[in-house]
Amino acid sequence: MSKSIMHQKDGTCYLCMMLKGDYDDHKITEEHHAVFGIANRNLAEHYGLKVYLCPEHHRTGKEAVHRNYKITKYLQEKAQVVFESKYPNESFREIFGKNFKLEDKPPEKKEIPKEPGFRFLEEE
Ligand SMILES: [Zn+2]
Ligand SMILES: [Zn+2]
Repeated sequence: MSKSIMHQKDGTCYLCMMLKGDYDDHKITEEHHAVFGIANRNLAEHYGLKVYLCPEHHRTGKEAVHRNYKITKYLQEKAQVVFESKYPNESFREIFGKNFKLEDKPPEKKEIPKEPGFRFLEEE
């Protein structure tokens, strides 16, 4: 088992810390692979892309990573950022086949409407 490069297993919940600034020690924390899916779970294990979560943030609460897509995305993006700073010579995209960083997505094509006769208001 490899060590997490995102979070130390010390009783804290990663999401309690990040979302609420709560560094409390939890009786139970559960291991979560930040990038999951059949192939990626093993890769996440290999690279240490995992965090420890209280059961509420893992499975049962409204902000549980397995129930709340926003939280899923949040952890995936964090995982990629940590991965890229830890392994600057490796390509997250090539290894995981995905890019989770929002700011890297190509900008949407913006078409300037070309209506006939359309023009900005000008002074006559
Ligand atoms: Zn928590
Ligand atoms: Zn999980």
